[in-house]
Amino acid sequence: MARIKPFLFISLFCFLAVASAQKSITDQDQIRGAMEFLASDAMQGRASGSHDELLAATFLASQLREIGIEPAGDDGGYIQTVSGEFNFYREGKKQWNTRNVIGRLEGRDEKMKDQVILLTAHMDHIGIGKPVNGDNIYNGADDDASGCIAVLQLARALAHEKAPKRTVLFVFFGSEETGGQGNGYFLQHPPVPLKSIVANLEFEMIGRADSAVKPDELWLTGFDRSNLGPELAKHGAKLVADPHPKQNFFQRSDNYALAKQGIVAHTVSSFGLHSDYHQPGDDVAHIDFAHMDQAIHSMLEPVKWLANSEFKPEWVKGKKP
Ligand SMILES: [Zn+2]
Repeated sequence: MARIKPFLFISLFCFLAVASAQKSITDQDQIRGAMEFLASDAMQGRASGSHDELLAATFLASQLREIGIEPAGDDGGYIQTVSGEFNFYREGKKQWNTRNVIGRLEGRDEKMKDQVILLTAHMDHIGIGKPVNGDNIYNGADDDASGCIAVLQLARALAHEKAPKRTVLFVFFGSEETGGQGNGYFLQHPPVPLKSIVANLEFEMIGRADSAVKPDELWLTGFDRSNLGPELAKHGAKLVADPHPKQNFFQRSDNYALAKQGIVAHTVSSFGLHSDYHQPGDDVAHIDFAHMDQAIHSMLEPVKWLANSEFKPEWVKGKKP
């Protein structure tokens, strides 16, 4: 056995010391950390308009602060308080209180910063309900903690580099599950003129893979309605048409109200019609973190491209809702 030279021994020691101190935090750790809070039993299913929804909003706001995204809600904060009379699916009009969380990354290009890319997800779920196998907490891990975390990770990626040319708004809507009251209020009280919003991508249910498409693919609702999906796909997004057209998913998330205002707005998803939809089984234990990590990662470069591009998506003739 050769005699080890003292300086080599010291170098090796230093290397090991540094290596052990620098266990790097991976994207998957960040994703899992946020998921284990938002979809925990402690959050009691983040019911629309509830105190638990406010806790989710507060968490998302604090994450945006930590990431370095500016607040764009009420009074210099991230939260936009929502209060008023709203339409509900079953009960019709009634008084409702909820909130949205709004963060803003100002574009760096003088000519393009008035063009806004809107990235959204909904933070509420359906709360506590009828027990199934002794579990009455409807955690909403896939629906839609997964989408909120996608928006957070996109915010993190965009904030860590030179600001994009366009402005990017990150919005978490409240009360989507009860009919989109947060979204409705946002449209009535937008932080930027609605005409300045070039595109909206809503992220919904990306926590599990959909066996109807390839394992690394995501689908975009209303894919053939505009040229946004095809153009994102050209720039690396693993985006394909929604394989479940009978489900009318284009109409079933917050993107739809925006689309009806003329904004090119679609939802990104990989919901494979699993039986835990709106059940207590939509929990952290059923999240496929490898898929979710890959899904979010696959959208980073295409979204960065969109935020820096002069491309303005348009509705296909006759396909505008
Ligand atoms: Zn949802």
